[in-house]
This record gives sequence, C-alpha cells and structure tokens, in this order.
Amino acid sequence: MITVEKALRSIFLNFRPLGLEKVNILDARARVIGEDVFATRNIPPSDNSAMDGYAVRHIDTKGATRVNPLRLKVIEEIPAGKVPQKRLKKGEVSRIMTGAIIPGAADAIVRQEDTKKIGKKVIIYTSVKEGQDIRFAGEDVQKEELVISKGSIISPAQIGMLASLGRAFVSVYQKPRVAIIATGDELVDIENDPPPAKIVNSNSYSLAAQVMECGAIPLILGIAKDKKSELQEKFKTALHADLIISSGGVSVGDFDLVKDVMGEIGNAMHFWQVAMKPGKPLAFGSIKGIPIFGLPGNSVSAMVSFEQFVRPYLLKMQGHTKIFRRTIKALSSQEIQKKKGVRHFIRAIVKKEESQYVAAITGEQGSGILKSMVLANALIVLKENETKIKKGDPVTVQLLDDSLSKTESFPF
Ligand code: AMP
Ligand code: MG
Repeated sequence: MITVEKALRSIFLNFRPLGLEKVNILDARARVIGEDVFATRNIPPSDNSAMDGYAVRHIDTKGATRVNPLRLKVIEEIPAGKVPQKRLKKGEVSRIMTGAIIPGAADAIVRQEDTKKIGKKVIIYTSVKEGQDIRFAGEDVQKEELVISKGSIISPAQIGMLASLGRAFVSVYQKPRVAIIATGDELVDIENDPPPAKIVNSNSYSLAAQVMECGAIPLILGIAKDKKSELQEKFKTALHADLIISSGGVSVGDFDLVKDVMGEIGNAMHFWQVAMKPGKPLAFGSIKGIPIFGLPGNSVSAMVSFEQFVRPYLLKMQGHTKIFRRTIKALSSQEIQKKKGVRHFIRAIVKKEESQYVAAITGEQGSGILKSMVLANALIVLKENETKIKKGDPVTVQLLDDSLSKTESFPF
C-alpha cells in the first residue's frame, strides 16, 4: 500500500502528453493552444471613426461654439465598409459613420450631436482637437505582436481575437479518448427493473461524465463479467484508446480478477492499493504506454479516485498546467474521527458564512453511498497523521465545482 502522494508521483513518472491537432476556433474553446499566435495584420486595419458625425480638418473648426457656430461644406458620405473617394480641402467635411475609414486630410471627428445638417452644408457647434474620436490603425493590435501564447486556455475573447486576425483554425492539444470498462457479474445496463441480484452499472455513467468534465471523450465499452476471458477481451479492445479506466474487480475477493488480467496482457503494474478512504483498492499500470486506472467498484470510491488521480492526468495530457482542484480552508461544523495512516476524503457541502467558509458533512460516508456525493460540492481532506477534528477546527477542503463562485442575488 502506498500513500496518495507517492501514488500521484508514480502515475506521472512516465507521463506523455497527447499530440496537437488543428481545429476550428470554436472547437478550441477551453482547450490548451499548442502554438504562439502573432498578429498578421493591424487591428483595426486603418484609421476609422469612433462616432457617427463629420470627418473634419480640426483647424477648420477652430472657435466654433453653440453661440458662434461655423458652416462647412459636406463633400461625401462615408458609411462603414466603404473606401472614401475624396480628400478634404479647406472648409470641407465628409459625413462619416462609426467604423468608416477616415478620408484624406481629415484629422478629427465632430460628433453628430454637435452638428446640424442643412442641405449640402453642416453647421458645426463645437471645435475639436486633432485626433478626436479617431481610432487609429493598430491601436488594438500591432502587426507581428504576440497576441496568444502557447499553453493558454482558449477563452471567448481569444476566439474573437483569432477571428479578427483571420484565423479560422488553430492548433490545440488533442482530447484524450478514454475507454471505460465496468466489471461485475451483478451488473446490468440501465433498465427499469433489474432482475433479482442485479444492479445497474452506474459507474460507467458517472465516470463518463467526469471524463467529459475534463474535456476528454468517454468511450463506454460496457460490462465485462468476472471472467478472465471476458476481461481480457474488453481490455484488448480498450487498447485503441489513449487511457483506460475500469471499475470494480480490484479488491481482494475471489472474483476480483482485474489485476491478474492487467498483468497477463502485458501490463507493467505500477502500484495497487493506496492509503486513502474511500478508494483504497486502486490499481495503476500501463499496457504499451497506455495508462490504465483500475478503479474500485464502489460508486463513490470510483469517483473520488477519479478526482484524485485520473482527472489531473487527463488535464495534463491536454496540456493543462493547473491540474489540481482548488483547496481552501473551512471550519468543520462537526467533530470528525479517523484512523491514523490513511488520507480521508469526506463528502461535504461548503458554504460561505459571513467572512469564512464552513464545511458540513453531507451524510453517510460509506463508499457505496452515492447520495452523500450527490449533495457534496467539496471533499474535506484529512491527512494521514490526523486523528480527530473538533467542531470549529479549520480543515482543508477540495472544491469539486465552482458553485462557491456563483450567486443568486443580483450583483449590481
Ligand atoms: P467490487 O470491487 O467489484 O467487489 O465492487 C465493489 C462494489 O461496487 C460492489 O458492491 C459492486 O456491486 C459495486 N459496483 C461495482 N461495479 C459497479 C458499477 N459499474 N456500478 C455500480 N456499482 C458497481
Ligand atoms: Mg466486482
């Protein structure tokens, strides 16, 4: 049996990230980019108007006020998207819309609300400074500037930036394809009324959902009976994936054959059994460089083991560097006792109460009690050497979702 820390170190020993693939920019969302992106053009590409109004030579507006307006000649109308045809001469202006290119010799914009059009003339009620309400070429992005660095997680703003640079495709880390094998003679797929002595294979679904939350692709391979030939068959099929997860059959029972089968099909078993609760009978190995996580069968053990080991692994495969869940300190709302030498992950709900976080256990902690996992938004992590937590003691909690950063109340 090894510690959680040693187990984590062991799984990353011969780690290999996945390769890159070119994807449409929308498919790059929330994924890690595998290239530096440099601007191939200025944004905006040319000087343009920030306002609807009139493009002017600022000197022509000198002295204009509400009381002493000036009258100038309108020589052209420039909507956005049209190239101006005329260059301004003294006393001339062009009608211009937001985003339209500034005509030759113009160096400022008079806003519409400071003007009044009369026939081919316009009355100007204000003077403007050079450059007023002009957006200059390259003021957002300069050609050749680095706009997105390799390793960034692609956000909607970055997708907008890629689009404005004319990039429809971008290079990102591939999504791991994760084979999911359920094991057990007692398992059936989702049915209304499972026959006597049978239960529904729920692990394949909770694990598939966890895989999806990591941005990876689950491949549910179904149920293998507790029979060596069937397990071998399933594991061999699974070798087409980038990573394999099984659940069940890794304990010490007569029909727990997963470890044996992993060994027989050419696996280098790296470890079996981790000093943690829930999740002790975890087996980790690899076949032909494909990592295999033999997760325990109990529903919560499988999910908690996934959280601690598989999730960070899948994130790292996709180029992520922040691969661990955030932990915060919270005050325990009850006394907790535990055995020395084992790390406990206790299902809890964490809430902010005034200026501090408080963690309350969500119910029965048996490793098959899924309901207390359903209610949890965090896991209280109690280290190996701890034995007793008193009510009100600070504890470390691992946040399982971002519910704490959201609020129902209108924020402004
Ligand atoms: P095992 O380690 O195979 O003995 O499984 C431990 C417990 O988890 C048993 O009660 C199994 O019935 C249950 N279990 C195993 N696999 C699954 C699964 N895929 N879905 C739901 N429960 C399971
Ligand atoms: Mg079993």
